[in-house]
Amino acid sequence: MLDGCTPPDEARAASYREKGYWRGENLSALLRSWAHRHDTATALVDGERRLTYRALDQWVDRLAAGFREHGLEAGDRVVVQLPNSMEFPAVSFALFRIGVIPVFTLASHRAHEIRHLCELSAARGYVLPARHRGFDHLGLALRMKDEVPSLRHLFVLGDVPDGVEATPLREVDADPRPFPEPDPSEVAFFLLSGGTTALPKLIPRTHDGYTYQTRTAVDFCGITEKDVYLAALPMGFNFTWGSPGVVGTLRAGGTVVIAEDPTADDCFRLIEEEGVTFTSIVPTVAQLWLETAEWSTHRLTTLRSVQVGGAPLPAALAARVGPGLGCRLQQVFGTTEGLLSLTHDDDPQDVVVHTQGRPISPGDELRIAADDGHDLPAGAIGELLTRGPYTLHGYYRAEEHNQVAFTQDGFYRTGDLARITPEGHLVIEGRIKDVIVRGGDKISAGEVESHLLTHPAVARVAVVGIPDDYLGERVCAYVVADGAPPALNDLRQALQDHGLADYKLPDRLEVIDALPVTGLGKVDKKRLAARGRTPEPTPSTEEPRGARR
Ligand code: AMP
Repeated sequence: MLDGCTPPDEARAASYREKGYWRGENLSALLRSWAHRHDTATALVDGERRLTYRALDQWVDRLAAGFREHGLEAGDRVVVQLPNSMEFPAVSFALFRIGVIPVFTLASHRAHEIRHLCELSAARGYVLPARHRGFDHLGLALRMKDEVPSLRHLFVLGDVPDGVEATPLREVDADPRPFPEPDPSEVAFFLLSGGTTALPKLIPRTHDGYTYQTRTAVDFCGITEKDVYLAALPMGFNFTWGSPGVVGTLRAGGTVVIAEDPTADDCFRLIEEEGVTFTSIVPTVAQLWLETAEWSTHRLTTLRSVQVGGAPLPAALAARVGPGLGCRLQQVFGTTEGLLSLTHDDDPQDVVVHTQGRPISPGDELRIAADDGHDLPAGAIGELLTRGPYTLHGYYRAEEHNQVAFTQDGFYRTGDLARITPEGHLVIEGRIKDVIVRGGDKISAGEVESHLLTHPAVARVAVVGIPDDYLGERVCAYVVADGAPPALNDLRQALQDHGLADYKLPDRLEVIDALPVTGLGKVDKKRLAARGRTPEPTPSTEEPRGARR
C-alpha cells in the first residue's frame, strides 16, 4: 500500500474478501466493463454535450495515454480541482487507468488549502480550470508550481496563454495503449476531511473499498439503468461522487446529468429536460428548492427520490421535502471517511423524517461510546464510532492524529453524537468535534482561529457556530482586541489575503473583554455558542448572508 497509508487489519481484510465485499475490482476496469455492457447508452450530459459509455471509455483511454506521455506515472498524486463538468469523471477515470492517484479538492479552495494539499500529497500534477467564477486559478497554479518542489505539471481546462508553462487539457491526448491494472487494495483517490485540525487531512479511498461502497449504495437505493442522476453538489464530494452518486449511476448503466451548481432554477430545468429521477443535496439547498418549487413552472414529475444529507436536517424541513418536490426524501448521514447511513424507500414516513436510516452494509460496525470510550447501553446518546469495509483505517501521513482519531481496535471516532433506535435506525444528535457546519461546508474552528490570531488587533479569539435559519450555522468570531477593536471586514480581508477559502471567513464578529473559560481553564465554547443565540448585533458587525455555492 502507498507509503503513508495505514493498511487494513489482515484478519478483517480476509473476512471482507471471504464475505464477497471486496471482489478485487478496480475503477478503471469497471468503467471498461460498463462501456461494454451499456455501449451506446448515454453516460454523461453536460450542457449541450452528451457522451455515450463507449465514447467516455475511449476518451478516458486517450486521456490516460496522454497523461502518461506528459510524464505522470503510477503512484503519482495529482490534485484535481475541476468544476462540475464532463472533464471531472473523464480525468479521474483516466488517472485511475494509469494508477495515478487524484486528490479531489473543491473549486472554492485557494492558495492556503491548495499549497497544503500539494505539499502533503507531494503532488506531481495539478488539474485546474484556467478561470472559474472570476478567480484566476491558473495564476494560483503557477505560483504553486514555484513554491512546491514536487509539482511539475499543470493541466488546464480552458485556454493557456502563449509562453505559460501549462498544458491545456484538450492537448492531453494520445493513442490508447494498455496499462497494468491498478491493484484493488491500493488507494484509488484521496478525499478531503471536513477537518477538526487546522488543515484538511487526506482520506485514502481504495478501489476495493469504493467499488464496494458504490455497489452496495446502488443496491440499497435500487438504482437501475433507467435512472438519471443530477450531480448538483460538487462532484469531488463523497456524497455526489459515490453515495451512490456519479460512480454508482454509471455502475448501474444510468445517466449522469451534470449541473454547474445546485441553483434551483437551473436544476429544475435540468430535471424537467433530462427526466432526472434522483439527486443529492444539502439541507440549505433543500430549503431553497422548496421555496422555488412553490412558484416554479418546471415539472419535476420524473423525480423519484431526493437525498438530503451532509448536515443536520430539521424534522420540520424533512417533512416538507417529499410533498414539496413530489418525490421521496432519503436522509443521508455520510462521512467522507466512509460510513454511509441512509433511510430506505420502504421505511415508514416517521423513520424517513426523524432518523438518518441504517448503514448500507452488514459489514458496518457501529458503537455508541461514552467519553471514557466504553460502550453505552442501548438507546443512549454518545459518540458514534465505526469500522467497516469502506471506512478508512487511517488518514494519510498523519500518524499522530491517527492515534486519537481511531481506537486501538481500529474504530474511527466520528466526533458525532448519536443514538440508535430500538429498530436499529441511527439518529444524529449533535457533535463533539470542533467543526462548524455552514450549509454543509465543514469548517475547522481551530483553523480559522489560528489565522485570526495573526491579526495585530486580535489578542485572543474563539470561533463558534451560531444557529442560522438558512445555513444551519454561521461562523462567529469572539475576539478580545489588542488595542482598537478590529472591524469584521478587516478580519475577513486578512483571512482572504492568507489564501483561505471564502466559506471559512467569519460571518459575524463579537468583540468581548475576555473569553469565558470552563472549570478546567479551557475556552467555554458552549457558553459562547449560547451567547450567539441571542439577538443579532448591530449591522456594522454583521456580514450579509451569502448562499453557499
Ligand atoms: P464530511 O466528511 O465533510 O462529509 O462531513 C461528515 C460530517 O457531516 C459528519 O461527521 C456529521 O458531522 C455531518 N453530517 C453528515 N450528514 C449528516 C446528517 N444527515 N445529519 C447531521 N450531520 C451530518
